[in-house]
Amino acid sequence: MFLGRDKGFCANSVHTMEINEEYTLPLNKNDILPKNKLDRGLFVLMTVLIPALTVWETFILFQYYPELNFNVFIHFLFGSFLSVNVLGNLYYLKKIDSSAKQKSLPAVLHANWKYCHFCQLNSPPRSYHCPVCDECILKRDQHCMFAGCCVGFYNHRYYFLAVVYAMLGSLCAALFQLPHCIESIGGFHLLPMLSLAAPHISLLFGFVSFYGFICAITQIVLLSAVVLTTYLLIVQIRCISNGQTIHEKKADIRLYDLGLKKNFVQILGMKWFIAIFWPFVSSPIKGDGIQFLTFYDLQEIKNV
Ligand SMILES: [Zn+2]
Ligand SMILES: [Zn+2]
Repeated sequence: MFLGRDKGFCANSVHTMEINEEYTLPLNKNDILPKNKLDRGLFVLMTVLIPALTVWETFILFQYYPELNFNVFIHFLFGSFLSVNVLGNLYYLKKIDSSAKQKSLPAVLHANWKYCHFCQLNSPPRSYHCPVCDECILKRDQHCMFAGCCVGFYNHRYYFLAVVYAMLGSLCAALFQLPHCIESIGGFHLLPMLSLAAPHISLLFGFVSFYGFICAITQIVLLSAVVLTTYLLIVQIRCISNGQTIHEKKADIRLYDLGLKKNFVQILGMKWFIAIFWPFVSSPIKGDGIQFLTFYDLQEIKNV
């Protein structure tokens, strides 16, 4: 049996699932900026766009409520909560290391393991080599271009919640600023509405003011973000519900389906009820990323 060297995992942890107080997650030592050009561009865009949209929505808030009052406070608090959750989860998604190289892996190839010629190591079940990160990732789900890193065993929670909060944030912001946006581009008529489809042409022909142009652009960005994050969230919920990674979903591997609640706890950790609201709280994940409880193991445990 090969066990992770992380503090906190007890012997035979895959079955007992006991975790002590010293639980720590492995940290990524790579540069914060991704190596790949596309990833780097998207990562910079995300780190600029999210705070910029937060500032913009605060500005819109004061268009609705010129004076400080309870409504402003509640809106500001809720908006800040969504932004902090998106940025906090993105930060930890990059910061936490899910690569296989951090583990003490066996020199002998075991059943269901595979040898990775790129990393020159025996890769455990559910691990796959990422051609962009150029390393094997434990329980690899996918490569996230917006964060410029892979989503794997230790950082899946942060990816999932970043998507949840990005979807909620963009949806709330799009709905919140919609009346102001429509008013700024000239009301709910055919010509002003075209500004939402092609704001640069409307600006060029003088159909819309520069301020209306900015409103239309932010509305388009927010609506695009709603569509993209909703799609990503649906994919994630479908995969996690079945205890699958995206690769396992494509290959129809259902071996690791432990039931709806256990599947989500596997991703969100044992303190999931706090983790879903706050990215900075530690929420220990069961297991070591090398060995995994299967549907059949669960049946055996139940029958004992
Ligand atoms: Zn590899
Ligand atoms: Zn990757």
